[in-house]
Amino acid sequence: MTSITEVTVHDVRFPTAASGDGSDAINRGDYSATYVELSTDDGPTGAGFTFTNGRGNEITCAAVDALAHHVRGRTVQEVTVEPVAFWRSLVADVQLRWLGPEKGVIHMATGALVNAVWDLRAKLAGKPMWRYLAELPTDELVANVDFRHITDALTPDEAAAILDKGRDGLADRLALLEREGFPSYTTSVGWLGYPDDKVRALTREAYAQGWRAMKMKVGGPPADDLRRARIIRSEIGPDALLMMDANQVWDVDEAITNMTALAEVDPYWIEEPTHADDILGHARIARAMDELAGGRCRVATGEVAANKVIFKQLLQAEAIGVMQIDACRVGGVNEVLAEMLLAAKFGVPICPHAGGVGLCEYVQHLAIFDYLRVGASLEGRMVEYVDHLHEHFVDPVRTRDGRYLLPAAPGYSATMRPESIATFRFPDGPAWR
Ligand SMILES: [Mg+2]
Repeated sequence: MTSITEVTVHDVRFPTAASGDGSDAINRGDYSATYVELSTDDGPTGAGFTFTNGRGNEITCAAVDALAHHVRGRTVQEVTVEPVAFWRSLVADVQLRWLGPEKGVIHMATGALVNAVWDLRAKLAGKPMWRYLAELPTDELVANVDFRHITDALTPDEAAAILDKGRDGLADRLALLEREGFPSYTTSVGWLGYPDDKVRALTREAYAQGWRAMKMKVGGPPADDLRRARIIRSEIGPDALLMMDANQVWDVDEAITNMTALAEVDPYWIEEPTHADDILGHARIARAMDELAGGRCRVATGEVAANKVIFKQLLQAEAIGVMQIDACRVGGVNEVLAEMLLAAKFGVPICPHAGGVGLCEYVQHLAIFDYLRVGASLEGRMVEYVDHLHEHFVDPVRTRDGRYLLPAAPGYSATMRPESIATFRFPDGPAWR
C-alpha cells in the first residue's frame, strides 16, 4: 500500500510577457503552473499541474487547496481499483460542484490533482505514462472513464471494442515510433507580438530544423494577418502545412469573412475561430470552410473545451475536423481517455494542444497512447510543439527533425526541477523580487 500523505501546491510563474512569447489575439501574460506534489509514505512523489496565466494562478492554487482533502490520505491502490469513484469525489464535491460543474477553475484544479495521481501510478509501475496506459487491459481502461453524460454518443461496450481493436498491430506502431518519433508542428514562429523580420527568421530556422507544419496566430488587423501569412507561406513553400489560430477573437461571420481572405495562403486549419462554447457557430464555420476550400481547411478547437460534454457536442454537430485535447484543462487523464475514445468513435484525428508550461511534456504521452491503442493511425495527427520552458522539467521533451522522441522515464514527465520551483515561485522567488 502506498499512501498519499501530503498535498503541496506551488504557485510557479514565468515572466514571459516581456518578450511577447505566447502572445496571441487575446492572451498576454506570464505563463504559469499550479504545480502539485503528492508526498507518499513509501514511494515516489507524484507531480501534476494545470497551466494558467499570471494572476489566474492564484485562483487555481486556492482551488487545489480546497479539493486536496479528497486526495490526502488515499492509497494509490484504492484509487486504482475504483477510479471513477475517486474522480467523482473531486468533480462532485457537494459544496464545490456549484463552481463548475466540471468546467473552469475548479475543473482545472481537479485536473492538476488527478494528473498527479496518474503520475504516481505510472512511477510506481516503473513505466512512462504512454506505456503504462497502452499496456493496461481493456476493462481497466474502460473502468477509468466516467461515462455519465456521454452514453448517447459512446457506450462502455463501444469503448471496449475500440480499445480491443487497438491491440491489433500495436507492436508495429510502437516500432515505427521508436524509429521515427511522433509527428509534430511548431507554433514558435508566429506569435502575434513578433515583428515581421522575426517571423521570417524563425520560420526559416524552423524549416531548416525539419518542421514541415507551422502555426501562426491571427486575429490582429486582417491586413496584418495576411501579410504575416504570406511571409510564412513564401518561406515554407506550397507543400508544408500552415495552420492559423485566432484564439476565439472573432464572431462567427467575421471568422468566415476573414478566412475567406486568408484562403489564398492555403491554411490547413483554423483553430479557435470563435468562442469556445459556440458549438453551432463552429459547425457553421466548418460548413463555410468546406464550401470555400473544398475540405482543405479544417476547423480545430479544444484547448479550452471545458469538458467531455463539449467535445461530444462538437463531434455530434460535425463542427470540427481536428480535435485538440488538452492534458490539464479538463479533469485529468480519466476525462482525456473519454475524449480520445469519442474522437475515435467519430473518426476525427486528435492533435493535442501544447506549449504553455509543460503541456508538451504532458501531451506527448497522450498522443502516443492514442496512436498505439485508440486512434491507431498517424493520418492527420500531430502534436503541437513550442520551444520554451522545457528546461524547468526533470524529463523534458526531446525532438528530432520536427518529431517527438518517445519519453522513457517513469511517470507523466510532469516533475519540475526543484531549483526552478524555488526561483520562479510567486511572489517570493528571486525571479519576482
Ligand atoms: Mg491555440
